[in-house]
Formats: sequence, structure tokens, C-alpha cells
Amino acid sequence: METYDYVIVGAGMAADAAIAGIRRHDQDGTILVIGDEHFPPYQKPPLSKKLWMEDMRMEDVFLRGVGRPGVHLRTGTKAQGLDLARQAVTLPDSLTVGYKKLMLAMGARPRRLVPPSDAVYYVGSLTEHIRLFRALSSSRHVLVVGGGFIGAEMAAALSSKGHQVTWLLQEDYPFQGFFPKNLADYVAAEYRRRGVVIAANQAVAHIDVDAQGVKALTHTSKVFMGDLAVLGVGVIPNDDLARNAGLAGESGGVLVNEELCSSDPRVWAAGDVAIMPGGSFMMHEDHAVTQGKIAGENMAGSHKAYTHQSFFYSDLYHFGYEAIGRLDANLSVVEDWVIFGEEGVLYYLDGKRLVGVLNWNVWDGIPKARRLLQQDSSMDGTTLIGKIRNARE
Ligand SMILES: Cc1cc2nc3c(=O)[nH]c(=O)nc-3n(C[C@H](O)[C@H](O)[C@H](O)COP(=O)(O)OP(=O)(O)OC[C@H]3O[C@@H](n4cnc5c(N)ncnc54)[C@H](O)[C@@H]3O)c2cc1C
Repeated sequence: METYDYVIVGAGMAADAAIAGIRRHDQDGTILVIGDEHFPPYQKPPLSKKLWMEDMRMEDVFLRGVGRPGVHLRTGTKAQGLDLARQAVTLPDSLTVGYKKLMLAMGARPRRLVPPSDAVYYVGSLTEHIRLFRALSSSRHVLVVGGGFIGAEMAAALSSKGHQVTWLLQEDYPFQGFFPKNLADYVAAEYRRRGVVIAANQAVAHIDVDAQGVKALTHTSKVFMGDLAVLGVGVIPNDDLARNAGLAGESGGVLVNEELCSSDPRVWAAGDVAIMPGGSFMMHEDHAVTQGKIAGENMAGSHKAYTHQSFFYSDLYHFGYEAIGRLDANLSVVEDWVIFGEEGVLYYLDGKRLVGVLNWNVWDGIPKARRLLQQDSSMDGTTLIGKIRNARE
């Protein structure tokens, strides 16, 4: 059996960061990265934004960690089982590879409503992106299903590309529960201005595909027709390996301690699939990359705790935001606008405690936001207005 010092299952964003982490402390150890896709690790966020906007070329999505000396990559290979006692990963065709240390970084996959087909697409992988990109080489009527981040980004990206978009969401209005109503309305108005038909309160129950295209049947018994459907209706952690090996948490995922090690001292995990005790799944880039790097360092002998408060971001037309902490529109929100809806900072307060910050078309303000969130003092409009807004100055 071939054995490596480090084996990483899942060739994604956390894996790429883990290689850098390992190499900080171990220049020579052999590393094998096993990925089920036919690509080296790549950035996923551009799949629902920059790659549609033509301000990023496809070849620029690829990450570079696997090009380092001593790193081996096996693509198109799904790891099928783990033997913790033998320290081995089972691959197709009864092959096994041995590890001294193992990292699980299998990410998450889109939840499916109906099987993918020539008319039904899920946003989540480069393979699927290429399939959809080809299908949209000419102008089409697209049903975008899902009111979350992916649905919002795809509705914006595809309407910007000139496609006719009907956006089906189960919420009462876009960004409900996340942005305060005045901002949500302002952004929804931009979607409508770009020709998007917003069909709120329309949870899709089923999608029929026929020669004419797709028919989405909603819980209110309405039918929406289009040439094709693009779905972003949630994700599921790819945790089968961990479940079968007894490394999964109660709510799934790979359960890790603060050093990102699982209940097996030779197995670490990071990214979308990892879950810390009492925590919830965090599925965004800053989290996956920071966690991946620390897990890599710890595999190579460090003992760093993962205490990073990660941020997330999104792009919708000319709007872009970076956010950190709890963004719950039911909290009280202090709004600090330079121009309403165009540039400003929103502070989310639980009583007098600052719990979340949304930087709206304001860049580089996350370190300031993080520092504010770490302060123990009580806060309100008077203490917060102007604290981040001019982050660049
Ligand atoms: C379309 C899209 C847009 C996004 N936009 C943003 C954004 O704007 N901002 C933000 O902060 N985050 C965004 N994210 C989230 C961010 O990309 C993820 O949090 C990050 O990619 C997670 O990294 P990961 O390494 O855990 O998983 P991934 O990058 O998903 O990599 C996991 C890899 O493991 C593979 N795998 C799974 N099981 C196996 C197995 N058994 N054997 C071998 N390989 C396996 C998977 O196929 C995948 O290639 C977006 C994600 C998507 C899909």
C-alpha cells in the first residue's frame, strides 16, 4: 500500500490552504490530495459571480497549492471508505492509500429537489458551471430557485448577462430576515429594474421537465415555466466517510475540537464539512481557508486553536458586501449610511451588545468590525455611527 505523510480527502479550498499550513512546518513530508472532481482545487465563489461577469477567466479560478514540491494530486477519485485502525483510505477499484495524518475536507454539495438534467442545474461545482454556461450560450428564460445567497447571486448574474430571469423564493421578499426591510426593498427594486420577475412566497415543490423546458410547481399550486431552472436550495455536508468511520457529530459533519482534530488523533477536518462542539456549520471562504491553514499547521505538529471569527461576502449587481457575526433583521439595527442603499454600514445589536456588522459597498472594514465585535462595552447609535464607514481613509 502506498503511504503518504499527509493525505487530504477533498480537493477544494480548505485543502489548498492546508497544504500551505503543512508546508509552514514541514517542507519535506509527502502530501496526497484526493479529489472526486476532474479539476485541481479551485475557488468556488466566482461560480455565482465573477465567471458570469467576464471579469475573471476560467483558468484564473484554480488555486496553486498542489503545484508545490512533494504534493501529489489524484483527481476524479472519490474516497469511499476510511479504515482508522489501518490508517488507510479506500479508493475505487479496491485501491487503498495509507496515511500518517489525514485531513477530511470534503465540503458540501447542493441539496437536490429533482435530478439534474439538460434543463435543471445546481450551482456548486465547476463541472456544473461549465454545463450551465454552455446551456446559456444563447438568451434564455431561466427560473432561479432559492432565496438564499446562491439564488440571489445567480438571479443577479444571469439577468446581468441578458437572460430573462424569474426568481422563485419561499420567503415573503428577498433577503428577508437578513437585511432590514428598507434595504431589502431597495435591492429588490434593482433586481426588478434589471427585468427580474420576483416570485415571493413560492416554495418550489417539484420541477417537471419536457421538450418545452421546465415547469416549476409551487406549494401554492402555481406553475412557473422557463427554458431551464437553476437551483440554489441549500447544501448538505459531504460527511459519509466520517459517519461510517464514527467521526461525525450529532448533526452530521466531522466533529472537531478547537485544534480541528477529530476524535481520532490522526484525523483533522476543516471547511464546510467540519463542525466544532456547540457550533454550527460555517460555509464560507474565509472560514474554509483559515481553518484549512490551521488544520494543516496542526497536522504538521502545531497546536493552534481555531478562534477566528470569519467574515462572508457577496456581490449582487453593483452592490457588494462583507459581513461578520449575526445578521438577523429581527435584531435592532443601527444604520450608518453615506448614501442610503449605496454605501454604508449596518450594526446589528442584541440589546446593547453588538453582534453583527454589514459593510455595504464599504471595503476593508472587516478588521475594524471584528475589533468592535470583540469589545465588551455596551453600544448604541451614538457610539457606533462613523466607526467603520470611512475604513479606507
Ligand atoms: C457557487 C458558490 C458561491 C460561493 N460564494 C461565496 C461567497 O461569495 N463568499 C464566501 O465567503 N463563500 C462563498 N462560497 C462558499 C465557499 O466557496 C465554501 O465555503 C468553500 O469552498 C468551502 O471549502 P471546502 O474546502 O470546505 O469545500 P469545497 O471547496 O467544496 O471542496 C470540497 C471538495 O471535496 C470533494 N469531495 C467530496 N467528497 C469527496 C470524497 N469522498 N472524495 C474525494 N473528494 C471529495 C468535493 O467534490 C469538492 O471538490 C460559495 C460556494 C459556492 C458553491
